[in-house]
Amino acid sequence: MKAITVEPHNPGTACLEDIPEPDARDGSVLVEAIAVGVCGTDVEIVEGKYGWAPAGKKRLVLGHESLGRVIDPGPSGGLKVGDLVVGIVRRPDPVPCPNCAVGEWDMCRNGQYTERGIKAIDGFMSERWRIEPEYAMKVDRSLGLLGVLLEPTTVVTKAWEQVAAVGHRAFWEPHTVLVTGAGPIGLLAALVAKQHGLDVHVLDRMESGPKPELVRALGATYHSGSVATVGFEPDVIVECTGVGQVISESIQGVGSGGVVCLTGVGTGGRTMGLPVADVGANVVLRNNVVVGSVNANKRHWYRAGQVLANADPAWLARLVTRREPPDQFTRALQRQPDDIKVVVQFAAV
Ligand SMILES: [Zn+2]
Repeated sequence: MKAITVEPHNPGTACLEDIPEPDARDGSVLVEAIAVGVCGTDVEIVEGKYGWAPAGKKRLVLGHESLGRVIDPGPSGGLKVGDLVVGIVRRPDPVPCPNCAVGEWDMCRNGQYTERGIKAIDGFMSERWRIEPEYAMKVDRSLGLLGVLLEPTTVVTKAWEQVAAVGHRAFWEPHTVLVTGAGPIGLLAALVAKQHGLDVHVLDRMESGPKPELVRALGATYHSGSVATVGFEPDVIVECTGVGQVISESIQGVGSGGVVCLTGVGTGGRTMGLPVADVGANVVLRNNVVVGSVNANKRHWYRAGQVLANADPAWLARLVTRREPPDQFTRALQRQPDDIKVVVQFAAV
């Protein structure tokens, strides 16, 4: 079967090639790939900056934002032929650490977790893949191709759970949320905040195009500029850019008792020259919390399914801005200005 594979930490090695059919040891459920979303992590792996091949192999099958159709449900009982499923990405570490032991692999303490398409387990960019039934999340058939948005949505449902957990340390009645970055994660964060009935604002650099339009279509307010110029102190900031300046502005700009949830992963950039003690004093005197959030466990996957089911499908459909066939995967990995979510499509829904 055809698969998109890469030799991690060796740039320029990604290719579409023939590989053997999925190994029965990968799971009792056999799935036909429909689509796989592409994100910054995939680009980093292809550029040789991240990723690990499975033990004893040189190459890794890429892709972690899956959507597929069950060909053979195996003996599990919970799935039927034709069901649409998405594969959970992370697997608990083998030790396991206390968090993995209780199913919170997203909070893994020792870093020995594995991830499909990223860290030591093959991903989903192959014509067929296998999965353990307990890691196959069934999605509503009416979502069709939009089921491919489930994995990025889990990132946001986990982040929101973190925000709420922090918020409830005291009397907490949030009204305003600022989301920084109007990429797929930022727009899905805005969707979740909107579903919680909050006054949602989204900040991005773009001044026109699909991003401002999608924010307005959600009933949220769009800003282009800096956090300092939005004109209010948000109760919650969900930071989705990973850009140093935006992170710094968010920590300084959030309201008293506010929560800044960092979801973006960046690197480098200018040093801001802020006296750390002054930033710390501001956080102390206003009871603010900065919390990082990554990945998701099964609870968040379940919630993400609810979020997509409750969203306007026409709005969700506008998030998938481009589909590329497997032999054009390099085009899928090249960012274009109006891209939101680009998917590699293996089969019709
Ligand atoms: Zn662990």
